Amino acid sequence: MAFVEFRDVRKTYRMGEVEVAAVDGMTFDIEEGELVVVVGPSGAGKTTLLNMLGGMDSCTSGTIVLDGREVSSFDARELTYYRRYDIGFVFQFYNLVQNLTALENVELASQICKDPLDAADVLRQVGLGHRLDNFPAQLSGGEQQRVAIARALAKNPKLLLCDEPTGALDYQTGKAILKLLQDTSRVMGRTVVLITHNQAFTAIADRVIHVREGRAAGVEVNERPVSAE
Ligand code: ADP
Ligand code: ADP
Repeated sequence: MAFVEFRDVRKTYRMGEVEVAAVDGMTFDIEEGELVVVVGPSGAGKTTLLNMLGGMDSCTSGTIVLDGREVSSFDARELTYYRRYDIGFVFQFYNLVQNLTALENVELASQICKDPLDAADVLRQVGLGHRLDNFPAQLSGGEQQRVAIARALAKNPKLLLCDEPTGALDYQTGKAILKLLQDTSRVMGRTVVLITHNQAFTAIADRVIHVREGRAAGVEVNERPVSAE
């Protein structure tokens, strides 16, 4: 059994009289420790996929499994714990608490977890050992995204899910964030799933899931991913 399994997953929304499928029979696997890039045009279903995998959205039908547990059968309470303990989220915008320092932002998230990592250690790992006592407004966009990644990693999650994490950053800064996410998989051994609409990012992935019209239209396993730098 794969670490993550999506089996014929559907998510539909009711729009007045019609039912619209955001995800329409999606099937794929992810192995533990992989860096997975999810690509596809706007509206293809990437965010819906990630939200279901992260327990933020339920599926209409099909099966979602993480590490042997059937997430798609969780009730609301189980989903709350799953989001809190098992998943780290990173978004395009960093959503840091402005009146807390970098260290306090990371500590805040790890406080609610079962088995958190040391906040200062994780900030050092993402390259911010010298920024622990800075407030978000004193940090660049790339540094703020590093704090957000540290905040997600400090939960010691089973999966790190990133929705367009470079979307608000310039090219060079975005590349540095991709390198950090690749290291998060390669060096720290974590499973990372990253959404982008930028085809250029696929070369660094261990696995690429191409999403088209609510389906996994193609899955490539990259035996020799390019090192991000
Ligand atoms: P992507 O992330 O690839 O841009 P999304 O997963 O956000 O795509 O959306 C997939 C499709 O589902 C789109 O057509 C979108 O309009 C639709 N959709 C997403 N969320 C909702 C919702 N809450 N209600 C209705 N339609 C939605
Ligand atoms: P090259 O010098 O071989 O053309 P690049 O400098 O364009 O390579 O890209 C180096 C790495 O950055 C590659 O792994 C590539 O996938 C990734 N990358 C490509 N485009 C972008 C981008 N817009 N933002 C961040 N990283 C990118």
